[in-house]
Amino acid sequence: MTAGAADVELRAAGAALAAECARYAGMGWMRGTSGNLSVVLGRDPLRLAVTTSGKDKGELTDDDVVVVDGHGRTDDPVKVPSAEAGLHGRIAAVAGAGAVVHVHALAPVLAAEFWPDGVELRDLEMLKGFGRADHDVVTIPVAPNSQDMGVLGDAFEAGFRPDVPALLVARHGVYAWGADLRQARHRLECLEWLLRFKVETRRDSR
Ligand SMILES: [Zn+2]
Repeated sequence: MTAGAADVELRAAGAALAAECARYAGMGWMRGTSGNLSVVLGRDPLRLAVTTSGKDKGELTDDDVVVVDGHGRTDDPVKVPSAEAGLHGRIAAVAGAGAVVHVHALAPVLAAEFWPDGVELRDLEMLKGFGRADHDVVTIPVAPNSQDMGVLGDAFEAGFRPDVPALLVARHGVYAWGADLRQARHRLECLEWLLRFKVETRRDSR
């Protein structure tokens, strides 16, 4: 690919990421500068376009994007990728995802707090929106929080199941993924609803 074509490709990815971030910010899921999104640009070797660090996610432009490798590293001399880009790379590699989204929505963090060994979902119509049948029993894995992406990546892989495209990170947020940004968003939206239902209908143990 020529430098010009690569730039056009990256700008297109940046525009798509900015549009998705604006939607998530509007939902209150990317408060402050939190959260990060990525799309896979190529697989051999793995390359991802990921949102840059420290920007208001409701105000991104198509330039607020940087290319990283499968470990979240960039050779860009200026732009700084999200500190969590390494986990995006790990998820893209292990799950075969084409897009990974990470937000700091509240319900997933509350659910991880109540069920630190995994959040079991069942008998809910909305499971269909997560890519499962409504009668399936689906357990969303929970990983302890870490800012070491190697540690977090190992925890992700330990709990990974190909039919559960999401990970909760305790006291932090949620990752979801799919073939593209649209599928990842649909899964995340439905998962957030499912987790909110789960939290709000839990039996008080006091
Ligand atoms: Zn985060």
